Amino acid sequence: MPEFHNPVAGFGVTFKAMFRKRLTEQYPEEKKPTAPRFHGRHQLNRHPDGLEKCIGCELCAWACPADAIYVEGADNTEEERYSPGERYGRVYQINYLRCILCGLCVEACPTRALTMTNEYELADRTRASLIYTKEELLAGLTDGMVEAPHAMYPGTDEQSYYRGEVTRAAPGTVRQTARSRGETGDAAGDAAGEDTGSEAAEAGEAASNSEVRS
Ligand code: SF4
Ligand code: SF4
Repeated sequence: MPEFHNPVAGFGVTFKAMFRKRLTEQYPEEKKPTAPRFHGRHQLNRHPDGLEKCIGCELCAWACPADAIYVEGADNTEEERYSPGERYGRVYQINYLRCILCGLCVEACPTRALTMTNEYELADRTRASLIYTKEELLAGLTDGMVEAPHAMYPGTDEQSYYRGEVTRAAPGTVRQTARSRGETGDAAGDAAGEDTGSEAAEAGEAASNSEVRS
């Protein structure tokens, strides 16, 4: 082939590619759905009545190869109960500057309190904003839930929760005053559910009276 063809021949590759199907992803204008079991941002789950599943055991923190999780557990009391049983996670933080989204923490969690969502947009401008707190990681309330702290479903123990026997907050469940968070007795929580109809309707009303986060 004559030498003067060489520069033109190089453009042949370009011309061929122009008519092929485009592979470039138009992120962030077009966001593709992730695989169903994608390892994205974590979530701290709740029991069906709104109590928290985390028991503050720190197993997730010990399992983490990147030292990205910080947990401080505390005791539940009958006046301020966040989870069934003795302990709950008072402080819970995940540092997304360290996290490699490997999922080992999820495997280590004995109560299925910690799972991963499909959310992957974790970039931000400051270090502080990438250390997610318990409030940011906690799942929102759905129908039948009442914001913790509140009492366990009457007549149950923590085993009942793990056996799936509690499916909603008991009618009339009231959010307790969170003294450990600086609330006073006057700021006692939201009433939830009144004895006016079917249990399901009451539980739904209970949830609607509390803060709902999605
Ligand atoms: S996903 Fe992996 S790196 Fe991230 S917090 Fe869990 S164990 Fe640590
Ligand atoms: S998320 Fe699970 S493993 Fe981590 S402290 Fe809570 S209960 Fe324990």
